[in-house]
Amino acid sequence: MKYLAFLTIAVLMNACNATKTNNKDSGDVSEKYASTITAKDLKKHLYIYAGDEMEGRMTGSKGQKMAAEYIRNFYQDQGIPSPIEELNYYQPVPASYFKRVKDAKDSENVVAFIEGSEFPDEVIVLSAHLDHVGIDDDGNVFNGADDDGSGTVALLEMAEAFKQAVKDGKGPKRSILFLHVTGEELGLYGSAYYSENPIFPLANTVVNLNTDMIGRIDPDKEATPNYIYLIGSDKLSQELHDVSEAVAAKYSSDLELDYTYNDDNDPNRFYYRSDHYNFAKNNIPVIFYFNGVHADYHKISDTPDKIEYELMEKRTRLIFHTAWEIANREGRITADKL
Ligand SMILES: [Zn+2]
Repeated sequence: MKYLAFLTIAVLMNACNATKTNNKDSGDVSEKYASTITAKDLKKHLYIYAGDEMEGRMTGSKGQKMAAEYIRNFYQDQGIPSPIEELNYYQPVPASYFKRVKDAKDSENVVAFIEGSEFPDEVIVLSAHLDHVGIDDDGNVFNGADDDGSGTVALLEMAEAFKQAVKDGKGPKRSILFLHVTGEELGLYGSAYYSENPIFPLANTVVNLNTDMIGRIDPDKEATPNYIYLIGSDKLSQELHDVSEAVAAKYSSDLELDYTYNDDNDPNRFYYRSDHYNFAKNNIPVIFYFNGVHADYHKISDTPDKIEYELMEKRTRLIFHTAWEIANREGRITADKL
């Protein structure tokens, strides 16, 4: 008897699911494109991006230029355009801008753009820093696989997913700017430069989702590794926080959103320590996605073999779903806490 009852329910549930898929196609579109973001692809990019050839990606160095080229070539190959001009994906950041940096060299942010189909003037900025800290005195490369190779390749994979949606005629309603900033390790220079020289007016910039270190596990979280720290989501916009929570509950229920470092009194002050802050200080709502620090943080041992690719896939998909919802929801997210 029990078994039969269960069968009946199972059949009914299947029928419901079928109706859902047919009638409410839009409900699963986000899932469809998120599934193109895979551990395998993230790993493939990261082994190159955080390889020794990139020489630690110190701002203005030959290795950093190679890293910028890798990013640019990716967008070009994907057919994702630049918002500046055709085939020019670089926003130059001159050496003179790096105040307090000895022997600074010219550098560049790398940008790519997907125009929204309904509200093209409203822009969501997805950011990650492309630079790292170079080579030590003994010639050892700081690979920066987690910091911030992980965020960089996550952005590439998210861009590919959005582009696939565009190809299928299901592109985002609002525009997406993929912003790879330079000079983060030297003092958040690239994002500061962008905020002072924005390609799209800051008044039209809806939200910044910043990804800096999402490939590792904080030693405090070893027993519960399916987590991601979120910082800043409720500082300027309750609406953003609520949307972020709802998206996570719907699509990423196996990931715990941990707000430990969102506490205003947290001594680490991470809210001020990555590129999203240059948006937040201009009253643009932000979320900073972060795995916390670990033994290899800013060491030559931050290498791609130590990255948790399956976990990184989950985290990247969460960020993608959040961006998708913000880009496609009816109303623009506002800084309702100002
Ligand atoms: Zn760093």
